[in-house]
Amino acid sequence: MTTKKTGPKAPVTPSLPERVRVLVIGAGFAGLGAAIKLDESGETDFVVVDKGQTVGGTWRDNTYPGAACDVPSQLYSFSFAPNPNWSRSFSPQPEIQAYLEDVARRSGVLDRFRFGVTVEDAAWDEADQVWNVSTSDGTVTADVVISCSGGLSEPKLPEIEGIEDFAGEIFHSARWDHDVDLTGKRVAIIGTGASAIQIIPSIAEQVGRLDVYQRTAPWVMPRHDRAYTGLERLAFRHVPFFQKAYRTGIYWGRETFVPAFTWQPKIATPAKLAALGNIKKGISDPDLQAKVTPDFQIGCKRILISNTYYPALARDNVEVVTDGIAAITPHGVVTRDGTEREIDCLIVATGFHTTDQPIAHHIKGRDGRTLGDVWGERGVASYKGTTTSGFPNLFQIVGANTGLGHSSMVFMIESQIAYILSALEQMKAGGITAVEPTAEAQAAWNADLQRRMKRTVWSTGGCSSWYLDEHGNNTTLWPRTTFAFRGLLRTFDIDKYETRTAPAVDKEQVA
Ligand code: NAP
Repeated sequence: MTTKKTGPKAPVTPSLPERVRVLVIGAGFAGLGAAIKLDESGETDFVVVDKGQTVGGTWRDNTYPGAACDVPSQLYSFSFAPNPNWSRSFSPQPEIQAYLEDVARRSGVLDRFRFGVTVEDAAWDEADQVWNVSTSDGTVTADVVISCSGGLSEPKLPEIEGIEDFAGEIFHSARWDHDVDLTGKRVAIIGTGASAIQIIPSIAEQVGRLDVYQRTAPWVMPRHDRAYTGLERLAFRHVPFFQKAYRTGIYWGRETFVPAFTWQPKIATPAKLAALGNIKKGISDPDLQAKVTPDFQIGCKRILISNTYYPALARDNVEVVTDGIAAITPHGVVTRDGTEREIDCLIVATGFHTTDQPIAHHIKGRDGRTLGDVWGERGVASYKGTTTSGFPNLFQIVGANTGLGHSSMVFMIESQIAYILSALEQMKAGGITAVEPTAEAQAAWNADLQRRMKRTVWSTGGCSSWYLDEHGNNTTLWPRTTFAFRGLLRTFDIDKYETRTAPAVDKEQVA
């Protein structure tokens, strides 16, 4: 399996300091946003580490053909760094990556980033009230750790018999091997999720043959994408408030989808009709139409958007295979009916470790157990998706139940950054060395979430998805409006936390 990294060459960065107030792990949207806002708030004693060679996170790593955002870029960007130059409503990956690199450069915080550094372990030291973090570049001690490692960072490989023995080229969608020329080749792709439906139309014409292994047919709506006109771009740049108003319009438009997900799935009937129309428009063969028509409620899995996916499936050199994969041989894929389809290249578009994030197994809390141990026992649960009982001074951005089915994760990320900055400010002002949500606050938060979750389409829609863990609990998505989330995270609610102060401060207070 190819694990080659792409992107610009590593800048030469100084090695890690031994001590910082704040260590940020990950340099994607979350880590970069946190760094900029930390700096703006006057907190300059921080370092951001990332195993990659530049900022961008999942947008740096996902360079597959056709990669683009499926939330309009005007909203899928930092509110504090609007980009008047987006070329179109849904920007392609290179443009998003260039945007992030540009924001990083202009913000003047890049000197605090250390690239090519992998976090190996982080352990809370209760005596000294610090995190000791070992990395591939040495050990760093930090008062506070902000984990921005992201939910879509670790590719998930399918457990299929024989996959290790495949003799042709094989790579995951998130680790695209650009050295492989697919021209004229016999190619198979496993998966029909958000990544696959962008890849398939982008390579269908180029390859000799393409076998699409579909386990579950996704709902795919038309993609209302267009290039911005020169006039619009001029207005974004020069007309005061125009871009902000445009962004606000998109925000509220998307917020109207929330009731269909969280309350009454029937509201999504027009979306369902549009998606069914999309199938009919792209595919004329009734058998193929039936094969790709989903059998679950729209919204239960992520709703995808594409105008080119169904026409690609209808091509003569493309076959949608639904028989189920029994095994992979050195030269092909064998389906459950015993048919072997020979191939030269296998693309694995099977998603990411979302509910079982590998970093959780490397973060050890107050009692020496890892987040992975604790979550493995009780299920993934945090307080406000940001802090976790037993793990003092650990903040997670894009943590439990912060994902969205309808809007921009950047909005959620910015909400969490505000909460963390408020926490740091209160800690500084109060001489507080450690904060940790009380077990009661965390339990109440999660009880409320899971109560709300019961009526969402993610629970009732008749599908299995990566939103749900092995117990059937939805620990990934936020079941309310994004403005509710922002409101709840506006200020750090220290009364829901156990706090500890430095001995010196205690003495001062006594005196
Ligand atoms: P995904 O949505 O998890 O899709 C994985 C696909 O692989 C599904 O079709 C799944 O089938 C299939 N699969 C998994 N294991 C399999 C197995 N053992 N055998 C056969 N099929 C298997 O992954 P993704 O497409 O990479 O997308 C992940 C997330 O990334 C998205 O939900 C989205 O949040 C984000 N994303 C966003 C964009 C964008 O903004 N445009 C693009 C790409 C990704 P089942 O459905 O049956 O499980």
